[in-house]
Amino acid sequence: MLPNIPVAPLQPLRLPWLNTIQAAILRLDLIDPLLSGNKWFKLRHHLQQASQARAPGLISLGGNHSNHLHALAAAGKRLGFATAGLLRGHPQDTPTVRDLQALGMALHWLGYGGYRARHEAGFWEPWQARYPGWHCIPEGGGGVAGAAGCALIVEQARSQLAALGWRGYDGWWLAAGTGTTLAGLVLAEAGAHVVHGALAVPLDHGVPQTVAELAGLHGYQLHDACRGGFGKFDDELLAFIELSERQSGVPFEALYTGKALMALREQVEAGAFAPGTRLIFLHTGGLQGRRGYL
Ligand SMILES: *Cc1c(COP(=O)(O)O)cnc(C)c1O
Repeated sequence: MLPNIPVAPLQPLRLPWLNTIQAAILRLDLIDPLLSGNKWFKLRHHLQQASQARAPGLISLGGNHSNHLHALAAAGKRLGFATAGLLRGHPQDTPTVRDLQALGMALHWLGYGGYRARHEAGFWEPWQARYPGWHCIPEGGGGVAGAAGCALIVEQARSQLAALGWRGYDGWWLAAGTGTTLAGLVLAEAGAHVVHGALAVPLDHGVPQTVAELAGLHGYQLHDACRGGFGKFDDELLAFIELSERQSGVPFEALYTGKALMALREQVEAGAFAPGTRLIFLHTGGLQGRRGYL
């Protein structure tokens, strides 16, 4: 059985620069206090696979502010799986790491070199020996299973259009890290509406390849939104987030959602969208991570 996920509210998004187009925001940040954002959707099929295989636990990897490990630890605790996390770098004490420990996740720090080896053949072997039968999840919850879980995001939005007074919509706008969530939306839309991905990582980090492998070459557009690199923030971005939060009443963080919103403003101001275009901005969550850096 696929775990149920509460319906994320679809709300009007009001910002002064969104004056020529109509925007709504699907608040994945509000679905659950612990298990929030796109990571819960990306984990859905992995959790189902682990349960079908009667795996005693789930193991995955990430950084010390990782929204993915945070969601995995919370899901494991709630659904009764043990969890283990392989972390980049050396032991650090961040709010996220403290939560992982409190949620019962076993943590292993791989250093930087050890973490870089994560794509090499044989990387998982020692961990599979140490945790026999455990379900291994690629970084960020990626892959086919991760993308498949995101189809539910499209269903959730469509079920609320009428309540918003919209008869339809023209496209999606969301932040992309690995591109898995974006690919999931593209697959679910099957060409019905364009999906705009705002890249929170540099273009050479493999997002175009990931999306192409999972969802083909059509039905989406990629936009640079990384502002010099993943996890880099400048004063202009932080001021923009603060102002946008005040104007819209919606909280954003600086790694993904803030950068995606800023890239949307650039495109709107450049006239990329015809007047009256209706866009759904996907709030992918990630607010737990900002305790560590904002
Ligand atoms: C992980 C994450 C993303 C990126 O999702 P991908 O599926 O890897 O592209 C976007 N926003 C937030 C808040 C995230 O935590």
